Amino acid sequence: LMQISIPLNFIGFLYREIRQGLADIEAMFTLLGVPAEITDRPGAQPLKAVEGAIRFEDVRFHYDAEREILKGISFDVPAGHTIAIVGPSGAGKSTISRLLFRFYDVSGGRILIDGQDVRDVTQESLRHAIGMVPQDTVLFNDTIAYNIRYGRPDATEEEVRAAASMAQIDRFIETLPQGFATEVGERGLKLSGGEKQRVAIARTILKAPPILILDEATSALDTHTEREIQAALDQVSRNRTTLVIAHRLSTVVNADLILVLEAGRIVERGTHGDLLASKGLYASMWDRQREADEAEERLRAAKAAD
Ligand code: ATP
Repeated sequence: LMQISIPLNFIGFLYREIRQGLADIEAMFTLLGVPAEITDRPGAQPLKAVEGAIRFEDVRFHYDAEREILKGISFDVPAGHTIAIVGPSGAGKSTISRLLFRFYDVSGGRILIDGQDVRDVTQESLRHAIGMVPQDTVLFNDTIAYNIRYGRPDATEEEVRAAASMAQIDRFIETLPQGFATEVGERGLKLSGGEKQRVAIARTILKAPPILILDEATSALDTHTEREIQAALDQVSRNRTTLVIAHRLSTVVNADLILVLEAGRIVERGTHGDLLASKGLYASMWDRQREADEAEERLRAAKAAD
């Protein structure tokens, strides 16, 4: 029964999304396998005048009643600020972003965007206000141009090119024989993880949402690709409220606020400098990562010397 109910629910979800004209590929694939029944409240209004301030008030959440995943999460992100969430695997980082997007409803507390509870506004307006760059982008079997333009179907060719350039994927595209008309996806050119992520960033730049969720890739990218992606992300997060789910600490150094999550609770919060000075979990994670980076660097130098 389980095996059949999940796909059927998922198809139901797809059908509703498409019918409502808001098929959002990012939403769909982050949601794969998730049978949540989230619907608009009767009389739900569109999210109003989105500046992009986010507030979590004592948010609690469980997927299964026996196991609470978030155990009272509170934080404030002023409009335009960048907040990074770090912490061990399984701490609940991605769950926070799923709740903001309202893939699920909280089991306690509330989530506000510009003072409006996400449960009181239409899902369509919520999903228009939030852009998500997921860990793994799934591309449509269509051209690169189509995949980028998906962020805003009425974008001009000029705008698609400008977005590609901001996402630092334009030079790569120009090396392809068909350029922007190159077919990608399962039946076309297979792009690397970093290339796909930059296509997703270009798409999000076109969508220009006031709120951005960046779920960093866990897979190790090479240093060069990582720098390019970081530069692209810096572009897209400028002047918008950004929530970064960080797997590598090197990308959170400049965040306005870092939350350290452990087993569903915020155990530390502050800027990079604050957190290093307090010599807690963050500081030890930072030391460990730096040691790992240095070891990798030595290995690379040794290989190069051979
Ligand atoms: P990572 O750094 O490994 O991505 P995370 O901090 O983002 O981890 P979450 O993905 O938020 O962690 O998951 C938190 C917990 O919730 C995990 O223990 C996970 O097993 C559980 N969980 C996640 N998704 C579901 C789901 N759909 N159903 C049941 N449990 C889930």
